[in-house]
Amino acid sequence: MNKNRGSENILKEQIFQMFMFFFSIMSFITLLVYSEINHWDFEPLLLFISVYTLILGLLAYKRVFTKILHKTGIYSALIIILPMLWMRDAFLAPKIAYTILIFLLINYLTQKYERIILNTLGILMVQLLIITFNRDFNYVAIWITLPFILSFTAILVIITERSYIIEKRYREQKELQLTELTRTDYLTGLYNRKYMEQKLQTFHYIWKRGVQFYSLIMIDIDFFKNYNDFYGHMKGDSCLKLISSILISQINRETDYAFRYGGEEFLILLGFTDKNGVSLVANRIKESIEKAAIPHEKSYIDKIITVSMGTATVTESYNSFADLIDKADRALYAAKDSGRNRIIHYEEELILT
Ligand code: GH3
Ligand code: MG
Ligand code: MG
Repeated sequence: MNKNRGSENILKEQIFQMFMFFFSIMSFITLLVYSEINHWDFEPLLLFISVYTLILGLLAYKRVFTKILHKTGIYSALIIILPMLWMRDAFLAPKIAYTILIFLLINYLTQKYERIILNTLGILMVQLLIITFNRDFNYVAIWITLPFILSFTAILVIITERSYIIEKRYREQKELQLTELTRTDYLTGLYNRKYMEQKLQTFHYIWKRGVQFYSLIMIDIDFFKNYNDFYGHMKGDSCLKLISSILISQINRETDYAFRYGGEEFLILLGFTDKNGVSLVANRIKESIEKAAIPHEKSYIDKIITVSMGTATVTESYNSFADLIDKADRALYAAKDSGRNRIIHYEEELILT
């Protein structure tokens, strides 16, 4: 939560920096155009202010003194505009009043990101007022200045919008990646045990509401300790990854999940699936692991990797998902005890499927 707010502030600052940068260029060009119309009759104060604007804009662009600029930016804008009002103008007071009024209105109307765009429009309005009320009012001035002001305003609005959208998308993507990271097991890429508990809780709740069955498959690799001892831990890890990818390939519904339960133990959750369904999927997984024919010299069963499985389907007698895990676990150990490389389903008694 705090993190989000932090990045939002950074985003606002970045938008503000761009605002300052474009505004300074916009003002500078406007001043030059005015000066040109007035036969390059620069007033010292005006020259000072335009240089000040450019430096301010550059500082904003280079992200120097960001915080100070942020706070003083709008008032700096005022400082820039006031001398423009001063120039050859008999009606100074009402124009200062207009300027201040517009800025105050915009700043107090909204405290959000839109404020920046509104500020830009405000500046545009103020500049139009300056042109309109200028004693040397002339149509050439309007037609030369307007395109500059309009195009810079448009560029500014487009860039702030775009940067906002890009930043927002980037942040959402990062958040999604982080959530995925907290859910997955680093080695296999399967969902981890913590996420498993959340999902099981949900499915048990759905079941309690009398909606649908759910089933579990607990899987343990046969003689995996021997595999590690013979092939080494690295190969052991690769084998776990391969088995995991097989598991993922064999579950294809949105409501099916594969978790890494422990070292070389996996749990498959099949939502909306009864005992016929779980038997079907378990057999499919067993066959595809056999088909992969991963060599295992030191297995007492075969020369390839085999797995034992315990399956269980929820019934009224289970109070929580932990009960169902316990039953699947018992079925798995029955499968181990009765010779491994098989699937046993837990019912009131254990049944070989
Ligand atoms: P069985 O299940 O058939 O009774 O025999 P087993 O040898 O597979 O026995 P068990 O299931 O108790 O073995 C667990 C072994 O799995 C211990 C360890 O060597 C291996 N193991 C557990 N986690 C990892 C892991 O992350 N990487 C690797 N390479 N091996 C692991
Ligand atoms: Mg084990
Ligand atoms: Mg094992």
